[in-house]
Amino acid sequence: AAKTLDLNAYRLFDIEFAHAAKRRMTIGRDLDSAMQAETITLHYQPVVSFTDKRPVGYEALARWTHDTMGPIAPPEFISIAEETGAIHCLGKYLFDKAVKFASTLDDNLWVAINVSPIQLQRKEFSTGAMDIVRRYGIHPHRIDIEITESASLDMSRTVQDNLRNLRDFGFSISLDDFGTGFSSLSQLLNLRADRIKIDQSFTRGCLQSPEKVGIIRSILGLSAAMGMQVVAEGIETPEISDLLQDLGCDYGQGYLFGKPMDLGG
Ligand code: C2E
Ligand code: MG
Ligand code: MG
Ligand code: MG
Repeated sequence: AAKTLDLNAYRLFDIEFAHAAKRRMTIGRDLDSAMQAETITLHYQPVVSFTDKRPVGYEALARWTHDTMGPIAPPEFISIAEETGAIHCLGKYLFDKAVKFASTLDDNLWVAINVSPIQLQRKEFSTGAMDIVRRYGIHPHRIDIEITESASLDMSRTVQDNLRNLRDFGFSISLDDFGTGFSSLSQLLNLRADRIKIDQSFTRGCLQSPEKVGIIRSILGLSAAMGMQVVAEGIETPEISDLLQDLGCDYGQGYLFGKPMDLGG
């Protein structure tokens, strides 16, 4: 009996594996047409200044409602696009949309755009980004490029050249999800970011966790020493907002201040 059970377990595993593989294939196959049809869009979430709780900018977050599969979460389709290489095309498509949106906003508001480390591995990334910003005639300092630290941020020559070009042109650079995954202090040095975004895993539940507060304090100390601003992510309650403001974070983002919204960009 034990043997049959094992076999069934293997079959179930096979079926689930095949199902997941098929889903990934479908998503990969449909990315192009979704861009053509513009069913991949951007929502915008406010980033507020702690002093007056008014928006200083918006983060652009990709959204895709697939014709038959329904909503697909960005980490799922972004990771598939990274695997197939479609991320270069998708990234440019989203960058264009976000910069266009920025051109409709007040001059003092910035737009933060998430960029995959894979995009930085292509030499043409920085010139492509500059062309888009020139085309819409906006000031590059209003565009913030959010990069998530990861193993694929390899700091090759190409990545470093892209980062330098982007900085020299006037874009600002943020290190996203700081403290998770593959963060390393040497990446922090190499990236020379203008801003750090504290991941929501540290802000969530921080009222009950002196350890989390300790980590937030040390990130703030680090960023002060390096002249970087700090954005706290995932703020859902006034109590957490007050604590992060008291600790000295510059900006906050989270459902308390506003969810990602369809602002027609
Ligand atoms: P991220 O850049 O760290 O974005 C923050 C995520 O937290 C977003 O999820 C946002 O909707 C969510 N969030 C914001 N405030 C709160 C809050 O108060 N509570 C909770 N529970 N969640 C909150 P989303 O939109 O699902 O995006 C997930 C990740 O997918 C992003 O994390 C980013 O890494 C990636 N992503 C999204 N759009 C893009 C894109 O256009 N390009 C690339 N390369 N990656 C993207
Ligand atoms: Mg982000
Ligand atoms: Mg991220
Ligand atoms: Mg983040």
